[in-house]
Amino acid sequence: MLTVEWSLTSGWEKPYIRPLENLSLHPASSSLHYAVELFEGMKAYRGVDGKIRLFRPTLNMDRMVRSAARATLPPSLGVKKPTKALLYVILSPVGPYFASGSFNPISLWADPKYVRAWKGGTGDCKLGGNYGSSIYAQREAMELGCQQVLWLYGEDHQITEVGTMNLFLYWENEDGEEELATPPLDGIILPGVTRQSILELARKWGEFKVSERYITMSDLTAALEENRVKEMFGAGTACVVCPISKILYKGKNLHIPTMENGPQLATRFLNQLTDIQYGREDSEWALLVS
Ligand SMILES: *Cc1c(COP(=O)(O)O)cnc(C)c1O
Repeated sequence: MLTVEWSLTSGWEKPYIRPLENLSLHPASSSLHYAVELFEGMKAYRGVDGKIRLFRPTLNMDRMVRSAARATLPPSLGVKKPTKALLYVILSPVGPYFASGSFNPISLWADPKYVRAWKGGTGDCKLGGNYGSSIYAQREAMELGCQQVLWLYGEDHQITEVGTMNLFLYWENEDGEEELATPPLDGIILPGVTRQSILELARKWGEFKVSERYITMSDLTAALEENRVKEMFGAGTACVVCPISKILYKGKNLHIPTMENGPQLATRFLNQLTDIQYGREDSEWALLVS
């Protein structure tokens, strides 16, 4: 095999011809050529008692099984069903969590010219290809001074997800009801463990309407004009909840008053979920591993 290595410091190296034996990932691996590759994102938490917990790990495992089923191409495409697989677990330590209440809100760029996922596609699975193709849009967002992409879908500019997080809107809806809304799992939304947990908590509290429903950019702009938006936040394992303060859309900056409103609800979800993850509260959602 002819190999040419590249690095930031020295650029392209001399080409070499060498045997393959030492490589653990075969260069003909379908993951490199057809993105038949999937991953999961899960954390282990060292709790206030020094013990280690996982948060609802079976939900991650179930999702991984679904991703794997979707990633297996039929033989007719010229790609054989895999006869081997490689599971990597990247162990990266993160510092202990301190409840600080110091949320850093993020700014988003919303432009329908890029789509993250589409009906009939793989947006509801954690397949590598979904993410590789989103990096270009993420870079454009940053060049425009925004931190992440707000992914829109369809002619009516439905709001779907933010970066690699699910999205929640806490507002007074069109009918004057207090509502926590997130887009439904219709195939273009990644079914997040955090999303599911937030919905289950909110439904258990029973204090306001909880909806899986479509939200368009015009729904949002109308609500902003009428002062009906309370909070908007992303949700995922990495940050639990992440408040949104600004959306750049059609050349205009829309101010989202999440921080002015506490953010009361986002903080409540953050505290409730991290209390479980770090063992401050007992819950069936925490799996003690040591
Ligand atoms: C992983 C991921 C999420 C969040 O899922 P969690 O299980 O809550 O971490 C949301 N959206 C996308 C696109 C993702 O890849």
